[in-house]
Amino acid sequence: MKCKKCGEKAVIKLRAHNISLCAPHFQEFFERRVSEAIKKYSLLSLHDKILVAVSGGKDSLNTWFLLKKLGYKADALHIDLGIDEYSKKSREKTEKFAHKIKGNLKIVELKEEVGFTLPHLAKREGRKACATCGLIKRYLMNREALNGSYSAIATGHNLDDETAVLLSNLLNWKMGYLGRQSPLLPSWHPKLAKKIKPLCEVTERESAAYAILNQIDYIYEDCPFSQGATTIFLKGILNQIEEKSPGTKIRFYREFQQKARSLFEEEKMSLSECPTCGLPTTHPPCAFCRLKSRLLQKEGKSK
Ligand code: AMP
Ligand code: ZN
Ligand code: ZN
Repeated sequence: MKCKKCGEKAVIKLRAHNISLCAPHFQEFFERRVSEAIKKYSLLSLHDKILVAVSGGKDSLNTWFLLKKLGYKADALHIDLGIDEYSKKSREKTEKFAHKIKGNLKIVELKEEVGFTLPHLAKREGRKACATCGLIKRYLMNREALNGSYSAIATGHNLDDETAVLLSNLLNWKMGYLGRQSPLLPSWHPKLAKKIKPLCEVTERESAAYAILNQIDYIYEDCPFSQGATTIFLKGILNQIEEKSPGTKIRFYREFQQKARSLFEEEKMSLSECPTCGLPTTHPPCAFCRLKSRLLQKEGKSK
């Protein structure tokens, strides 16, 4: 297998693009796809100050690494959810990487924020751990972006993540979610940073290869609470389709963005500021402050 660009030994075959590439040409390919997605979807300008939400996984570490490499101002936020060994390892990998690239990393601990780790909180709340975790992560990302005057929050979602969610939203005709399923969610309140997904057009496999070639040491394990069963199943189905018809995933995603997403766009709900924390919310007080006050009440009752 030879590199299509230079004839040297190829390290990866990309059937969706009908090419094999050597290590340097694959890196060039990956970086070009990310910077083209940034341009095409107008994700960023060089004036943006970016906060990358870094979990310690390959995708978010790649996002941070690459945004800096492309010349953007990018710091990182890691949320330590206190999920036993998994969180310990994720935090270690993130800290080690920040040190390696001399990047600014802020760590926020859930235990400090609400007095409980995620496993305890999920038990107390009797809610699905993933829903609670999603709410907390979104809130803390927004709050830290506001406190640090960041104009953009970047996450590591890749093409496999995005197409699996897209398929799920289509199968269930989730109109509102479909309207919001974009690599760019513009800011719609002065206190909210825009949200961007720079890796939306690279696959999980390409992202893993890029991390390995750049010696980025990441956590392989999935979160033990991961509700992922459905997502993993849908990713498997999409991979089977891709196997038969290479290029389907990227076409499915791009053409949805170009031709269909705007059909599902709903009017934005008006936002007001949470009386407790000041962050914008559709239903004040915000869900995070409501969660906190429920926990305090329970605490009071159990004393
Ligand atoms: P997930 O929902 O776990 O698939 O993660 C999606 C994206 O959310 C990741 O690519 C990260 O950008 C971000 N993220 C997930 N977990 C954390 C965390 N503990 N701290 C900071 N960012 C996170
Ligand atoms: Zn080459
Ligand atoms: Zn609040």
